[in-house]
Amino acid sequence: MINKYYKSMLQGKSIIRELSEYATARGQEIGYENVFDYSLGNPSVPCPETYTKTVIDLYQKEDPVAIHGYSPSLGNTQVRRQVAESLSRRFHIPYETKHIFMTAGAQSAVAHSLRAVTEPGDEVIVFAPFFPEYGPYIKATGASMRVVPANTENFQVDFEAFQEMMNPRVQAVLINSPNNPSGVALSKETLEKLADYLRQKQEEYGHDIFLISDEPYREIVFDHGEIPYPSQFYDNTLSCYSFSKSLSVPGERIGYIAVNPTAKDADILAVIFGQISRGIGHNCPSATSQFAMAACLEETADLSIYETNMNLLYDMFTELGMEVVRPNGTFYIFPKALEEDANAFCQKAKDYDLILVPSDNFGVPGYFRMAYCIDTEKVLRSIPVFKRFVKEVYDVGK
Ligand code: PLP
Repeated sequence: MINKYYKSMLQGKSIIRELSEYATARGQEIGYENVFDYSLGNPSVPCPETYTKTVIDLYQKEDPVAIHGYSPSLGNTQVRRQVAESLSRRFHIPYETKHIFMTAGAQSAVAHSLRAVTEPGDEVIVFAPFFPEYGPYIKATGASMRVVPANTENFQVDFEAFQEMMNPRVQAVLINSPNNPSGVALSKETLEKLADYLRQKQEEYGHDIFLISDEPYREIVFDHGEIPYPSQFYDNTLSCYSFSKSLSVPGERIGYIAVNPTAKDADILAVIFGQISRGIGHNCPSATSQFAMAACLEETADLSIYETNMNLLYDMFTELGMEVVRPNGTFYIFPKALEEDANAFCQKAKDYDLILVPSDNFGVPGYFRMAYCIDTEKVLRSIPVFKRFVKEVYDVGK
């Protein structure tokens, strides 16, 4: 018998994938250069040379038996130590090797973290707008997902709505900063308030509440700003990181979970993650991805194009008088659509070969996401097309 739950998931195809497939098909008709495809969050810049060079050196110079051997299931010990040292230096938290668990990207990091701190019947709180994949990760734990509605004024936390939703069944709160799809980072004030509130609730409920912090965009920061590191605010934090976006290596599937050393059971959580891997048949990332990543731990790809693209789009939206919150990082922007039905708005944009993602899947109606991890030249060409679209369809702009 085929599992009914997984079979039922086939009905809920990802709208983002569908739009991306549409863009590819349309590209075959009119030339992909003429399709303004803002659908997928796939990095558009090359990885740092160090990454490539390390991979070549590994293959050419190292003992093949050693580099291709089984990696320990929690990750290569030396690599985990390097990650711990780097994080301790950057964020002044005394991580040790035992607090680091290597994963196949942030997806795996978040999915393992959720399983480690919940049981069936528990609740996990997420804040809209949120990454749609959180739904299946949480569902697979047997816990249920509670969504705090978006604070669309600035995409910080709506504390009133959050407090209404809190109850003793909540075992984990899942945040994503800077955020996909809004591009907004949670401020220091928000994180302080969130941490104070969670500490108060832990005391009141008599159990730990974990903060799972999904941070694949931590290094894509604009305006020379600094993104606050959530684990500095709250002890029971599991930081889920990925090198997909910072090193531009999403296909290499490499990331980690860093357990705050003062978290409950911090010394054994990585081992527990290892047991979860056993249960689901997941294994840590390939040995060569781990070695190559460790060689560029404090490097990034040249991410500057994302800020250039963000500024072009942000300026366009403000010039048009459209409602938009300025992103602090990532490669996403999340403006308000010009009609209530974001699907209808994005459908109409398609007639202009503008591929925009409606917001409903992110837990907010009436907005749309643009993933501007594309060439700046294409962003520039898309601007007059977008202006023509909103003028002709909504009589907005000149
Ligand atoms: N979390 C968020 C918010 C994302 O946007 C993504 C990918 O787009 C992921 C997690 C998963 O990324 P990966 O598994 O490649 O690290």
